[in-house]
Amino acid sequence: MLQAVSVVHRGLFHSCAGLSVRMSSTGINPKGLLANRVAVVTGSTEGIGFAIARCLAQDKAHVVVSSRKQQNVDLAVATLQGEGLSVTGTVCHVGKAEDREWLVAKVLEHHGGLDFLVCNAAVNILVGGTLKASEEVWDKILNMNVKSPALLLSQLLPHIENRGMRAVILVSSIAAYVPQAKLGVYNISKTAMLGLTRMLSLELAPKDIRVNCLVPGVIETRFSQSEIPDMCSVLLHMLGQPEDCAGIVSFLCSPDASYITGESFVVTGFSPRL
Ligand code: NAP
Repeated sequence: MLQAVSVVHRGLFHSCAGLSVRMSSTGINPKGLLANRVAVVTGSTEGIGFAIARCLAQDKAHVVVSSRKQQNVDLAVATLQGEGLSVTGTVCHVGKAEDREWLVAKVLEHHGGLDFLVCNAAVNILVGGTLKASEEVWDKILNMNVKSPALLLSQLLPHIENRGMRAVILVSSIAAYVPQAKLGVYNISKTAMLGLTRMLSLELAPKDIRVNCLVPGVIETRFSQSEIPDMCSVLLHMLGQPEDCAGIVSFLCSPDASYITGESFVVTGFSPRL
């Protein structure tokens, strides 16, 4: 079982070596593997989404970051542009249809279409027991965490088709496999993401769009603050950092993953699931 252990903090901002940088150490591809591709990452002004956005941009994709708050978008864009990365941003609360439409419009305006969609934004409400959850809580969590990625993808789909290399990454959680009592309905929403990955991979295979799932363990972010005291990698004796989840997403977008779809990739520093 995962349990309390002494935690090694590795610093919040250790940088993700982009895929192109990692590959260049082998002499295989000194250029960005995702050059001239367009990636949209939801919930990407901090935490895991921000690390993914940065890593995709380091691999030379043009990245559109988004979140609910304009000031967070502005800060994330300024930070990443300051690192010389090709990044634009827009507000998008993924639970709001009009915000999703706005995001689609901005992507078309700036880039004319997209190649990669990373559905990272989610809500985490500490609601406790599933059977005690109100209908409002059920609706909020399932709408945000399950419905909104599918709806956003359907809105973006016409603009992702007819491009060379397409990939969708959904973000689940280790709670999908190892439910946490205090997370109630959230656990179920994240299990649903595994099913959504499988279903969408079937539906989109004829269009040559691959769909895979990132399954983070406890990663040190604002989102997970309530989890950290009693959950970290017992094997590696350290907490996961957002950057630990980023390289795998770049890989899944790259041609190296062209024979991989419908799969889930666990980033937990070891987990007790089968
Ligand atoms: P985080 O650090 O709290 O960052 C959340 C990001 O999403 C922020 O940029 C936030 O910006 C944005 N956001 C929040 N609500 C949004 C909404 N309704 N629409 C659009 N953007 C929204 O979160 P995180 O820990 O990186 O988690 C990211 C994903 O990883 C989630 O899907 C979560 O379930 C999953 N995950 C996390 C952990 C973990 O331990 N951290 C473990 C397993 C799975 P604004 O406030 O400006 O909107």
